[in-house]
Amino acid sequence: MKSITRIIGATRELWPFFLGIVLCAVLTSAASLLAPFIISGATDTVVNHLKGSAPTTGAIIVWLAAAYLAAQLVSVLTTNLGGYLGDIMSQRMRTILSVRYYEKLLSLPLPYFDSELTGTIIARLNRSIAEVTQFVKTMSNTFISLVLTTVSVIVISSLYYWPLGLLLILIFPVYFWLTSKTSSKWQVWEGQKNQKIDLASGRFAEVIGQIRVVKSFGQEERELTRFKTLFSDTISLTATQSRFWHSMDVARLSFLNLIFFGLYLLIFLRTLAGDFSIGDMVLLIQLLAMAVAPINSLSWIVDSAQRAITGSKDYFDVMERESDPRALAITREGAPEYTQPAAITASEGQELVRFEEVSFGYDGEEDVLHKIDLSVKRGERIAFVGESGGGKSTLMSLLEGLYDPRTGSVTVDGMDIAGSDLTQVRSLIGMVFQDPSLFSGTIAENISYAQPQASREQIIEAAIKANAHEFITKFADGYDSLIGERGLKLSGGQKQRIAIARAILKDAPILILDEATSALDTKAERAVQKALEELMQGRTSLIIAHRLSTIARVDRIVTLKNGQIDEIGSPDQLAASGGIYAELLELQNSGGKTIAKKLKNFDIIG
Ligand code: ADP
Ligand code: MG
Repeated sequence: MKSITRIIGATRELWPFFLGIVLCAVLTSAASLLAPFIISGATDTVVNHLKGSAPTTGAIIVWLAAAYLAAQLVSVLTTNLGGYLGDIMSQRMRTILSVRYYEKLLSLPLPYFDSELTGTIIARLNRSIAEVTQFVKTMSNTFISLVLTTVSVIVISSLYYWPLGLLLILIFPVYFWLTSKTSSKWQVWEGQKNQKIDLASGRFAEVIGQIRVVKSFGQEERELTRFKTLFSDTISLTATQSRFWHSMDVARLSFLNLIFFGLYLLIFLRTLAGDFSIGDMVLLIQLLAMAVAPINSLSWIVDSAQRAITGSKDYFDVMERESDPRALAITREGAPEYTQPAAITASEGQELVRFEEVSFGYDGEEDVLHKIDLSVKRGERIAFVGESGGGKSTLMSLLEGLYDPRTGSVTVDGMDIAGSDLTQVRSLIGMVFQDPSLFSGTIAENISYAQPQASREQIIEAAIKANAHEFITKFADGYDSLIGERGLKLSGGQKQRIAIARAILKDAPILILDEATSALDTKAERAVQKALEELMQGRTSLIIAHRLSTIARVDRIVTLKNGQIDEIGSPDQLAASGGIYAELLELQNSGGKTIAKKLKNFDIIG
C-alpha cells in the first residue's frame, strides 16, 4: 500500500483530478443508493393499496418511477464523468511517471548502464508504469464509489437491524486476513515473473538490434530457445501463483457466501415475524445486492493492487538511484537549453588537461589504471600507445567524467572534474570513436547533433571540412536524406566522416580520437584521415591510433604498460629509447609473421 501512496504522492499535482473523481464517486453512490429507497417506497404503496389500508392515486407511483429514472440518470452521468476524468488522470500520470523515469535514466552515471541490459531498462519502463497507471485508472473508475456504497449499505442496514451490519462488517477482517496471507507470497512470484519477462524483452531488443550478427552466426534458434525458456518459466510460476491465489479465493468467497446466507435468512425471518414491511425487505435485499458486487470484486482489486505494487517497486528502484549531481543540466532550473562551450582560459602552450595520480578500476574490479600523471598542453597532439585492453579508452572516459577515478584527480582547464558541471566539461570535448554511432534522422540532423540551432551553411561548411560534402550531395535528398533503419545505408567510411563533421560543428577545443579509423579499409581510411587532419586543426588532440604512421606525426607519445605510464616523449625520443614504441617500429621495419601478431596485440598496423 505504501508504494501506491507514493505514486499518488509523486503525482500530487493531479489533485484537481483526484478531487473531481471523488466528487463524481460520491454523487454516483448517493444516486444509486436512492434507487432501493424509491423501489421500497413504491412496494409499500402498492402493498398497502392492495391490503386496502390506503387509498392510492396512480400519480404517486408515476412520481416514484420518475424519481427512480432521475436517480439512475444522475448515476449514469456521474459515472461517466468520473470515468472520463479517470482516463485523463491516468494518462497524465503515465506521462509524468515516464518522463521522470527517462529524466532519471539520463542523469544516472555510466556504471548503471554497464550493469543493465538496454532492453531491460526499456521493458521495465513499459511494464511497471503501465501496471501502475492501469491500476490507478480502474481504481478511480470503480473503487471509490464501491467503497462509499459498501459503507453506506453497512450503515443503513444497521439502522434497520444491527445484526445485519455486524455480519457485513465481519466480512472485512476475515477477508483481509486471508488476503494478507496470500499477498506476500504472490508478490514474490510476480517479481520473479517480471524479472524473467524483463530479461527476455531485453534480449529481444538486443537481438533485433543486431539481427545481422545473429543471422550470420546462425544463432536464431538458440536465441529463440532462450526467449522461449524465459517465457515458459513464467508459465509454471503463474501456475503456482494462480493455484495458490484461487484456492485462497475459494476460501474467501465461500466465507462471503456463508455471511450472505445468514443475512438473507435474517431478513426473511424478520419479515415473516412482521418486524420488517415488504418494502423494508425489498430495500434490504436490494442494498445487499448492491454490496455483493463490491465485496466480490475485492479479490480482483487486491489482485491488481498487488500487480501495481510489484510493478512500482521496479520503478522506484530506479528512481531511488542517485543521479550524478554534476550531470543534472536537464533538471536544473533555468539551465540553458544547449550549453555553449565555455571559453578556455589556458593560452596556447599552457596546461589544459591534467591527470594527477589517477587510479581507476571498474565497479567491483581491480584497478585498470595506476597512478597516472600526465599534463597536456593547449594545442598539443598526444598519442597513446599500449596493449589492447591496456586502459587507453578508459583514460579518455575519465577525461569526459563518465567515470570517477578511485583516487587522484582529472583537471580540464583548471576545473577539477570531480566538482564541476559535467555538461560544461563535456562541452569542451569533441570525440570521434571507432563506431560512429549515428541516430536515425537526416544527415543534417546528425551533423548538427551538438548544435541543433546551426544553419544549413554551417552544416555544409562542416561537411566540406570533413570531406563528406561530395558524397552527401550525390544522394537524391542531399543533406535531408534519412539515414538508419528506413533510410540510406552508409558505408563505414561515410558514417565516420559524418561523425567527424558532427565533431567539427561542435567545435570543442579538446579532441579525443579513439581508434577513429580502425574499422575502415585502407581507401576509406585515407578519406577519413584527411577529414581528421582538418578536425585536429587548432585543437588539443588526444589520439589513440591504430596506425604507426599516424602516431609518428604527433608532438608526444605516451606509452602505457600494466596500467601505468611507461614512457612519455616525442616520437623521435621514444624511437631511440628502446621502449614499447621503439620495439613496434623495429618490428614494423624488420617484417615477418610474428610481427604482425605482436602488432595486433597493440591494435596497431604498420
Ligand atoms: P583499451 O582502450 O586500451 O583497449 P580499455 O580502456 O577499453 O582498453 O579497457 C581496459 C580494461 O578495462 C580492459 O580490461 C577492459 O576489459 C576493462 N573494461 C573496459 N570497459 C569496461 C566496463 N564498462 N566495465 C568493466 N570493465 C571494463
Ligand atoms: Mg579502446
